[in-house]
Amino acid sequence: MQIEPKLSGHWTDDQLIAHLYSVGPGDEHINFCGECQARLSAMQQRRATIDRRSSAGEDVTFEFLAAQRRSTYAKTAAPVRWWSLLPARRWVSVAAMAALLAGSVFLYEANEHHYRNQQLTDAQLAQEVSQMAADSEPQATAPLQALFEE
Ligand SMILES: [Zn+2]
Repeated sequence: MQIEPKLSGHWTDDQLIAHLYSVGPGDEHINFCGECQARLSAMQQRRATIDRRSSAGEDVTFEFLAAQRRSTYAKTAAPVRWWSLLPARRWVSVAAMAALLAGSVFLYEANEHHYRNQQLTDAQLAQEVSQMAADSEPQATAPLQALFEE
């Protein structure tokens, strides 16, 4: 007299899984079959475990992505060109400063070359240095000072 279960048949695993995701078979077999209900609840437990694991995994992934995004933003924010922040007037004085620095390096190297080629005494060296300073300083700083005058 147990015709009905045989007619409908137990749900397959696929059907039970489909039911878990609310896309299951339309028949009511699960409501009447204890065996299938047991299988279903076992599946639900497994799914809950998997969900817990995957959601924990998603947290890690989210954190990872967030960290990645933060570093990306940091990178894109970083290359703000410092000279673009300077007003044009300031930029000119920075350029003049750089030119003066380059000039000083040039003078220094010229002096080095000069002193290496000529064996000067300490007195001569001191005299030459003071002469060099007296000669070059007003010329080098004059245009720079003009820039800073309002
Ligand atoms: Zn069944």
